[in-house]
Amino acid sequence: MKGDDVDPDLALTVAAVWRQERISCPHPNVLQSHLQGSLPAGAAEFVAFHLRDSSCPYCNAVVDDLRAQDAGARTPQLEDLRDRLLRSTAAALRQTRA
Ligand SMILES: [Zn+2]
Repeated sequence: MKGDDVDPDLALTVAAVWRQERISCPHPNVLQSHLQGSLPAGAAEFVAFHLRDSSCPYCNAVVDDLRAQDAGARTPQLEDLRDRLLRSTAAALRQTRA
C-alpha cells in the first residue's frame, strides 16, 4: 500500500474512525509479544504500523504501560531474591547458634 495514493482527507477520516472504534487493535498480549520481539514478521509489521502510522493512542498507552511494568518488575524481583537470600542466611545462622 502506497501512502501517496491516499486522499489526505480520507486518511484523516480513517485514522479518526480507527482511533474512535479501535478497529483492528491488537490484543495487549500481542503488544507485549511485540515488545519482547517474539511476534512473527507479518504481525510485528502490523503492530508497528498500528502504533506508529495510525498512532493509536490506546495501543500506545498500553505499550507505555507494559514498558513501565517491565522496567518496574525487574527491580522488585531482584530485591525479592536478595531478601530471600538474606532470610535463609539469617535462618541458617540462627540454626547454627541454637
Ligand atoms: Zn490500537
